[in-house]
Amino acid sequence: MTEPGNLAPQASAPERRPALRARIERVHDHCADTRSLWLRTIGGALPRFSPGMFISVAIPLAEGARVRPYSIASSAEDGEPFEICFNRVPNGAGVAWLFERETGDELDFTGPFGAFTLDRAPEAETIFIAEGTGVAPIRPMAHRALAERDGVPIHLIYAADRAEHLLYRDEFERLARERPRFRFAPHVIPADSLWSDLGRIVQRRWLDADAVRVRNFYICGVGKGVLALRDRLRAGGYERRSVRYEQW
Ligand SMILES: Cc1cc2nc3c(=O)[nH]c(=O)nc-3n(C[C@H](O)[C@H](O)[C@H](O)COP(=O)(O)OP(=O)(O)OC[C@H]3O[C@@H](n4cnc5c(N)ncnc54)[C@H](O)[C@@H]3O)c2cc1C
Repeated sequence: MTEPGNLAPQASAPERRPALRARIERVHDHCADTRSLWLRTIGGALPRFSPGMFISVAIPLAEGARVRPYSIASSAEDGEPFEICFNRVPNGAGVAWLFERETGDELDFTGPFGAFTLDRAPEAETIFIAEGTGVAPIRPMAHRALAERDGVPIHLIYAADRAEHLLYRDEFERLARERPRFRFAPHVIPADSLWSDLGRIVQRRWLDADAVRVRNFYICGVGKGVLALRDRLRAGGYERRSVRYEQW
């Protein structure tokens, strides 16, 4: 896929940068099926990256090696170790392998890669929309967008099927208290209606409420709901380049 925010990382990315190795320095379970690892690059440093980028992790399974992208959930300013965050997936053998890794283990990766990024504070009102671990690339983007005290309004509409799947909630609530221009809206929505409910929220707030179409959207999550939301916003009058997305 070629347009900005629409990636084909598993097929093409790994060849473009040298293989790196990292040691797991810390493991944290957000809940029973969601975990963060903090990784420190061995024998070098993580190349410079923009908020929103991912690394491609080499996963050596008995049935054959696979490469899976994982977004960098920490900010570039925080340096190393850097954080990735992931959840179990039904029949997901790749992520099951990641869950078996422990502190002190090493893993191979390439990157960082990606075009779903936000490099500098936006000039137009910006709305981040994420589901579950889909907040991983959004988190450093939101911090970058809010780096300056003053600026445009920034919103995070964050949905998950259970409250425990709303990650970094305390951090976002603290950020909303510190930066009045940041609005944080967490939603617990059953999985089967998550994207349709998000679609309704977006329709009411960002399409029906006014005729303004100068806003940026960054959408991240699993499945076709991401594309449906993208299409709804574009059909509603937002420019293609103003609606960025990453579908897992
Ligand atoms: C650019 C990019 C960045 C990504 N960053 C992250 C990340 O930061 N954290 C993360 O958990 N995953 C992330 N993913 C998804 C991740 O790369 C793997 O697809 C996922 O861990 C499942 O891999 P698997 O090999 O275990 O299962 P597979 O057999 O490859 O996947 C099985 C199914 O799971 C779906 N799926 C993928 N991710 C998830 C998920 N998180 N929850 C539920 N279903 C899912 C896929 O659409 C697929 O249909 C990212 C994907 C992309 C394209």
